[in-house]
Amino acid sequence: MTDFTLPEDTKALARRVRQFVIERVIPYERDPRLTQHGPNDDLRAELVALAKAEGLLTPQAPKELGGMGFDHATQAAVFEAAGWSTLGPVAMNCAAPDEGNMYLLSRIARPDQVKQFLQPMIDGHRRSVFAMTEPDGAGSDPGQLKTRAVFNGNDYEISGLKWLITGANGAKTWIIMANVEPNPHGPHGPTLFLTEGDTPGIQIERVMDSMDRNYVEGHCVVRFEGLRLGPSHILGEIGSAFRYAQMRLAPARLTHCMRWLGAAARCQHIALEHARVRTAFGKPLLHHQGVNFMLADNEIALHQARLAIRHVAWLLDNGVRARHESSIVKASVSEELFKVADRCVQILGGIGVTSETVVEMIFRDMRPFRLYDGPTEVHKYAIATQLERQGSAFTDPVGW
Ligand SMILES: Cc1cc2nc3c(=O)[nH]c(=O)nc-3n(C[C@H](O)[C@H](O)[C@H](O)COP(=O)(O)OP(=O)(O)OC[C@H]3O[C@@H](n4cnc5c(N)ncnc54)[C@H](O)[C@@H]3O)c2cc1C
Repeated sequence: MTDFTLPEDTKALARRVRQFVIERVIPYERDPRLTQHGPNDDLRAELVALAKAEGLLTPQAPKELGGMGFDHATQAAVFEAAGWSTLGPVAMNCAAPDEGNMYLLSRIARPDQVKQFLQPMIDGHRRSVFAMTEPDGAGSDPGQLKTRAVFNGNDYEISGLKWLITGANGAKTWIIMANVEPNPHGPHGPTLFLTEGDTPGIQIERVMDSMDRNYVEGHCVVRFEGLRLGPSHILGEIGSAFRYAQMRLAPARLTHCMRWLGAAARCQHIALEHARVRTAFGKPLLHHQGVNFMLADNEIALHQARLAIRHVAWLLDNGVRARHESSIVKASVSEELFKVADRCVQILGGIGVTSETVVEMIFRDMRPFRLYDGPTEVHKYAIATQLERQGSAFTDPVGW
């Protein structure tokens, strides 16, 4: 039976997180260290220290590694509360890409890799990257992967160009997707490599200027040239990169939805307050149907997003891979929450496009969500392909 009731301790934790974000984190939204390329590492370190002091650092990590070992349903409530400020997940060390990378590493890394690469992330001491997308190769279609790993019997020489690599500047744990070329020594195919950020052969060419500024240290163009890694740097099995990427993506898509739900709810809160006090044509904006219908549409969208997220969380908690359901939710939530932010800009009038409120920043930060972890069209393509394959709807309630 699907049950949406949240246990009291989950609600209490979510309230505590919301309070922490409001009291301790939001004041940093005007800190100059929140740069055009996102919060810098200095700001991140200060925020992480605050969350640590509150016992709220990396709550999603497995208990044996120092976290609270949440199920997905608990995570939905806590991440939404953290997302009230885009700096909330940064402080609590549950922002992308680290949160998804920690999830993946906790499932497939060897014990020595956990010690070197994952534990310091959980402890908030280092950040990570997941390097897949390429200007002329992997993107919506990872099958176009161009970055090569040539094995000579001793080590892999990796070469290629990646871009849009979030947080690359200063990250210490690197997960790199490359194609192991056929070789006489063993298996080949798309493979994940795990290494330190200062390994010779990793070159950050530049930080890209982008419309969002919520991710720590922004997004980079990265070149791999003369990067040599021994077999101990392989993460999981050779040839399994796409399977692992999927393993990471289903929950990672959902956690994006959770955090952005919190940010969209904050926009709604600000727009509602504004509509109560700002007047036009003899009455508060809130009493104009053109405005209160926008607020009502927002409420509907937020509620539907919350329910859809919780449903997929419930599926994952019950051992369902939920690949297609998470596609549906990601496509719909990213589109609908963006519309919420857009309507909030509209309700605020001219100040909606200025930094007088945080709505303008959230609006811009949220726009790329419709692209990363699969553009909406790619999710629709996957959903339609599955429909074609099955010949019937796969969201039939009988199948839940
Ligand atoms: C803010 C941000 C952060 C990112 N961080 C990372 C990161 O840390 N690591 C990383 O590896 N990548 C990252 N990415 C890259 C992201 O994963 C890609 O942008 C995404 O996979 C799309 O690939 P692409 O940009 O190459 O677009 P393309 O593959 O070139 O697609 C362009 C457009 O074509 C359309 N399209 C593509 N396929 C189909 C289809 N089958 N049917 C219909 N339309 C289609 C879509 O509208 C799509 O938006 C990030 C992107 C952004 C915007």
